Amino acid sequence: MTDTNCIFCKISGGEIPSKTIYEDDEFRVILDISPATKGHALILPKEHYANIFEMPEQLAGKAMILAKKLAKHMTNVLKCDGLNIVQNNGEMAGQTVFHFHMHLIPRYKQDGNEEKLCWNHLELSQEELDDVFEKLRQ
Ligand code: 5GP
Ligand code: ZN
Repeated sequence: MTDTNCIFCKISGGEIPSKTIYEDDEFRVILDISPATKGHALILPKEHYANIFEMPEQLAGKAMILAKKLAKHMTNVLKCDGLNIVQNNGEMAGQTVFHFHMHLIPRYKQDGNEEKLCWNHLELSQEELDDVFEKLRQ
């Protein structure tokens, strides 16, 4: 299923042209229009799923396998020094396009970004740590 108002449905379906570096029946991989670094690419499923929670497990697995293949290819071709794989879910997590996508971001020495895509480190008390641990353990 696709969403007629979704830009990534239009791009993955070929309705809007894009710099496609890979395509198969289920995915299109494009260059990001506003890249963090040279070669920044996005893996888009052709079906519309807003986020990881909506993605069928099998397709999510295939997206990760594809990310691994492309990470290797991009590293070989671009001779980058590292590569981030990023996937945002929800506005609070930085998602701006609500069609699942994975970012492949080649990293270069002195590419102008922090070494790590950054977050501040929390100082949690033992109590807070125990509390979240008890909630999460399965
Ligand atoms: P998000 O913040 O949702 O994780 O990432 C959305 C990404 O999509 C951004 O990096 C943004 O630059 C990229 N983007 C948004 N609109 C377009 C577009 O029309 N074409 C391409 N190629 N990339 C887009
Ligand atoms: Zn869509």
